[in-house]
Amino acid sequence: MDNNSPYLHPQYETLSREEISQLQAERLQQTVKRCYENVPFYQQKFKEMGITPDDIKTAADVRKLPFTTKQDLRDTYPFGMAAVPLRDCVRLHSSSGTTGNPTVILHTQKDLDEWANQVARNLWMVGLRPDDVFQNSSGYGMFTGGLGFQYGAERLGMLTVPAAAGNSLRQIKFMKDFGTTAVHAVPSYVTRLYEVMQEQGVDPRRDTKLRVLAIGAEPHSEEQRQRIEQMMGVKAYNSFGMSEMCGPGVGFECPEQNGLHFWEDYYIVEIVNPETLEPVPDGEIGELVLTTLCREAMPLLRYRTRDLTRVLGHSCPCGRNHVRLDRMRGRSDDMMVLRGVNIFPIQIEKILMTFPELANNYLITLTTDDDNDNMTVEVELAEMFTDDFGRLQKLNKDITRALKDEILLTPRVKLVAKGTLPVSEGKAVRVVDKRKVYQ
Ligand code: AMP
Ligand code: ZN
Repeated sequence: MDNNSPYLHPQYETLSREEISQLQAERLQQTVKRCYENVPFYQQKFKEMGITPDDIKTAADVRKLPFTTKQDLRDTYPFGMAAVPLRDCVRLHSSSGTTGNPTVILHTQKDLDEWANQVARNLWMVGLRPDDVFQNSSGYGMFTGGLGFQYGAERLGMLTVPAAAGNSLRQIKFMKDFGTTAVHAVPSYVTRLYEVMQEQGVDPRRDTKLRVLAIGAEPHSEEQRQRIEQMMGVKAYNSFGMSEMCGPGVGFECPEQNGLHFWEDYYIVEIVNPETLEPVPDGEIGELVLTTLCREAMPLLRYRTRDLTRVLGHSCPCGRNHVRLDRMRGRSDDMMVLRGVNIFPIQIEKILMTFPELANNYLITLTTDDDNDNMTVEVELAEMFTDDFGRLQKLNKDITRALKDEILLTPRVKLVAKGTLPVSEGKAVRVVDKRKVYQ
């Protein structure tokens, strides 16, 4: 592995499992002490559970600690979880709450430095170097995908183009004019960009120098990734992040593209059964729980992310031993329950993406009609052949059958013209639930 990277502590990237455990034990002890001494919320929890920082000796002792939930962050809004005086903080990020208070995450300068290192580590891992030109199409501001990638890409030493969200024509012009080689975008936006490129007669392979995409911030299927790679003529790497854990940089795919390495020098990773909160065996799906190990301003113990995934392994042909997690299946709150069947939007996406006749944008609507709950899947056609009714009908039937095989219910499928469904600048909205709720 090339260790001449300009970010800090590359030596942690290739630690053995034993070394990782050792480092985690040390860092967990410090983190727990910090929480206990400075955060009344945790002090109270420790007292209730009858534990003190002295009870934490190994990384596995993390299981003795209390969980932290999004609700806890809301209840202590805005600064109740701070472990340092506000004067030592230099930035806050806030994730939008659709209900109630948003959550606030505080950062010291050291926290921001470490975050930049994490992102730089990921970008370096997938072959980006100071000669690359990095364009970020995330919103800058409270959304961490903007500043998070910005500082990480600068730390690596690339020329950065903080294009920010939206304005696809300008994005494409920048890519061409500035020789952009790498882009960060949410996957649903990449497909939008490609459509605009097509409308403009721009061929990304011929007219741009793009070679790497970091795609993340929202669930997407392997099929979607492959489509993106083909369309754009690039390698697309899955990037996982969440504001509560800094933002982007928490987990990233290596060139093997066999799951996301979650950085265990920064986090303790647990996968638990969301009902019992007990650990699940490797390979089994459960809720991702993360404990920060390097955070000064706002350390979080056993944070319940609500993201569902599983452990794929602890070693990798790339030489890194940091745990590999499967792509997120979605959040437990994304799961739709329709007539008693549990369905994730990504299951629908996976099927739709296998039909070359379909474009990438789709919308799932749940309704109650005559007291029955139904699902309608609207999906855009890749090309116009609305005049060929027979072909459309057959396609519709094939899609419906394939979806039924996957989700065990028969949805209504509506094929719509390209550009008809709404496109969001940030994370895509895939599900609209209009069902009547019966008490
Ligand atoms: P936010 O804190 O607003 O950035 O949202 C974080 C959430 O976005 C995570 O908890 C995940 O649900 C989702 N997310 C982020 N990255 C990915 C990814 N690569 N794949 C699937 N979901 C993701
Ligand atoms: Zn790897």
